[in-house]
Amino acid sequence: MKRIIGKINPEVRHVTIWGAGFSGLILGYFLKDQGYAVTIYEKSNKVGGKIHTKRTGAGLVETGANALYLNQDVLDLLKELKLEPIPAAKKLRRLLMLKGKPRNPFQLSLFSKIISNVYKKPPLVSDGLTVADFFLPLLGQENVQHYLSPVLGGLYATPADQLHFKSIFPQVGKKAQFDSYWSFIRMIMKLQKSQAKLELTGSVTFEGGMQTLINRLAEILKHDIKLNHKDHFKLKPNTIICTDSYNASMLLKDLRPQLSNELSRIQYRSMSTSTLFIKREIKSLQKAFGVLIPPGNGYNSIGILNNKAVFPTNNRNMGSYTFISLKNLTDEEVLQDVLLLNSDVKGEDIEHIETTKWEKALPVYDLQLYLAVKKLHQLAQQENDLAIFGNYVAGISLREMITAAKTFARSPLDYPEAT
Ligand SMILES: Cc1cc2nc3c(=O)[nH]c(=O)nc-3n(C[C@H](O)[C@H](O)[C@H](O)COP(=O)(O)OP(=O)(O)OC[C@H]3O[C@@H](n4cnc5c(N)ncnc54)[C@H](O)[C@@H]3O)c2cc1C
Repeated sequence: MKRIIGKINPEVRHVTIWGAGFSGLILGYFLKDQGYAVTIYEKSNKVGGKIHTKRTGAGLVETGANALYLNQDVLDLLKELKLEPIPAAKKLRRLLMLKGKPRNPFQLSLFSKIISNVYKKPPLVSDGLTVADFFLPLLGQENVQHYLSPVLGGLYATPADQLHFKSIFPQVGKKAQFDSYWSFIRMIMKLQKSQAKLELTGSVTFEGGMQTLINRLAEILKHDIKLNHKDHFKLKPNTIICTDSYNASMLLKDLRPQLSNELSRIQYRSMSTSTLFIKREIKSLQKAFGVLIPPGNGYNSIGILNNKAVFPTNNRNMGSYTFISLKNLTDEEVLQDVLLLNSDVKGEDIEHIETTKWEKALPVYDLQLYLAVKKLHQLAQQENDLAIFGNYVAGISLREMITAAKTFARSPLDYPEAT
């Protein structure tokens, strides 16, 4: 099970959290709900960390997360917070750039490959196994490169040959060998079926974008958050570090050098997001959620999201597309990608481009991260009232962070250790 590192002492009714990004806010919220007094120190002048919705003259721009994926914990949270979710439009096409054009990824050739290999035995699930290694005998090299890598790249910004299998599929638990791919697929389907039916599925945003969720949490914690906090770090009883791993490592450098050392091993991927407002629709992305772009197609982006199609009520005015790239996109590079998609777009059609660059956008879920987190869990067993959380600990998405924070707040001592 994915869990927060370390523990707190429930007899001490005060917790000190470092970092008011989503992990710090959500953990602060659930701990406060359990009756703890909470203090959250944030070094910048705002809460939300990577999540921020800018209001530009042309429309809303999400600098980081643009949607919240649902599970039962998320639905319960939204009810508690009295937030009205706006569901993403259903039945949109999910496209993949194939031979230079956005196309339906479910090509016959992919299906026939899967069908012919589904009874093959997958590789042994070891600590060192990558997602690419696992699926290679099923899909073949070309499909791993053209289908699997861009799909996972869109979610984790990391190619399949680096993604750590056990981290991405924690459902496999301790199982080391599947008889066939079919038995792996059956296990995943069974797990999905066993989950209670949700009253709403998919992903959501809010009127005013993801900032509305952050603002609501910040409002509840308004007396507890200290912005622009530059004081020296102290290890008080029940300290929880909710920064990125780099800053967590810096905070613990002198007081807990071993923990600091493990934290410093975790790598991050830099990324930029550019939201383009345009007076006309990009034809090849009509009625599409967006397109994932494998390398070698001549594009600067790894994926493009069609914001107006996904959340029309938040994007009433004009076309809005977010270009996600592993490099720092310039406006010219965004335009190059637009022209590749739709060669008759003219300069005057472009209303505005808003780019955000993240030097440390997302942690790389590779073997190094897995081993560092495993070691951190072991080292933290010697601590009675110190915990570590963030998107490198229990999953990258907000949904996973909500579940981990809720479980920890309710039972900070006795939920299962990570394996
Ligand atoms: C481009 C992009 C798109 C994404 N899209 C989605 C999506 O659609 N859905 C989804 O579920 N997830 C998405 N994610 C992932 C999700 O947004 C992040 O995993 C999450 O917001 C990270 O939260 P965090 O609290 O772990 O870290 P951060 O947001 O990095 O917050 C850490 C906080 O700690 C503060 N801090 C750092 N050092 C110190 C210090 N020394 N003292 C005090 N405070 C400190 C920082 O200022 C910051 O506020 C996306 C991420 C990116 C980058």
